[in-house]
Amino acid sequence: MALVSMRQLLDEAAKGGYGVGAFNVNDMEQIQAIMEAAKETQSPVIVQASRGARQFAQDRYLFHLTLAANELYPEIPIAMHQDHGNRFDTCKSAIELGFTSVMMDGSLKADGKTPASFEENVEVTRKVVDFAHERGVTVEGEIGVLGGVEDGHGAGGSGLDHITDPDQAVEFAERTGVDALAIAIGTIHGAYKFTKKPDGSVLKMDVLIAIHKRLPKTHLVMHGSSSVPKDLQDIINQYGGKLKETWGVPVEEIQLGIRNGVRKINVDTDNRLAITGAIRKVFAETPEKFDPRDYLKPAREAMQKVVALRMQQFGQAGHAQDYKPLPITAMIKGYADGTLDTRPSVVGV
Ligand SMILES: [Zn+2]
Repeated sequence: MALVSMRQLLDEAAKGGYGVGAFNVNDMEQIQAIMEAAKETQSPVIVQASRGARQFAQDRYLFHLTLAANELYPEIPIAMHQDHGNRFDTCKSAIELGFTSVMMDGSLKADGKTPASFEENVEVTRKVVDFAHERGVTVEGEIGVLGGVEDGHGAGGSGLDHITDPDQAVEFAERTGVDALAIAIGTIHGAYKFTKKPDGSVLKMDVLIAIHKRLPKTHLVMHGSSSVPKDLQDIINQYGGKLKETWGVPVEEIQLGIRNGVRKINVDTDNRLAITGAIRKVFAETPEKFDPRDYLKPAREAMQKVVALRMQQFGQAGHAQDYKPLPITAMIKGYADGTLDTRPSVVGV
């Protein structure tokens, strides 16, 4: 069975009224943790690799690990996604490798740091959409600029500096034809998101709801949406870590998003915290151990636990068997004949 197109996976999520976690991978243990959680909860999954991950692991390893997952768990639909592509060539190489989805983050210039103009964003994203859709591959764009920096990618800032303007989001969707759209509503990449439990002053759920009303067919994406739970912070600090107190995006806010068009939720930090806490615990409690399996196994289990919980909370649990992945040729045809066109002027909003 082939990898599933992310577009099909998100269309199914929209039909079912649930969200799908997109979990970042850098190595085999993370892919294994995600797949065991997916099996446990019978969830469709999005596995995503950032530019940093593709460099760290060599992307061919990551891609073939995902193919191995596809062989081992034939009942689970798996989409493979490029997270934060910074330029056309990054997306092109991911597509040529076999990724079924790419994010072209044209909200920043190719340096991955400097905010780009609206016109620059439209131009590069449109170019990726043309290339990707001809090959049946899904495209996520970004409008507005997220806060923080992760893997060297990001403009920094508080998250409130470049909140998405709903009018611009509509124009962007119309001019690019993206399948999915990441919007900036105050969320921030990394562990240090908020200095207190976020409320409407820092997390603009009203903006998200306004955008969904005007773009009902474009799947919305929440980035920087780890919840950074206190118990995971505590384990790290209990065993010698030095995390400062911090708050993430509460799960109930994500669930409000899911009721309002959010179909993809990016989670990375929570898994990093779970892995690091588990490894620190082994090191602190049994310093005589030196077999990497002694700490990688509990690390993998800790990540599986977090992923399985998020799959339940996002509502994707139990939906693995709802559909079979369409062949890529069907996606190519759908883009060519307009049946997959989500532009507001076409879907009549
Ligand atoms: Zn992101």
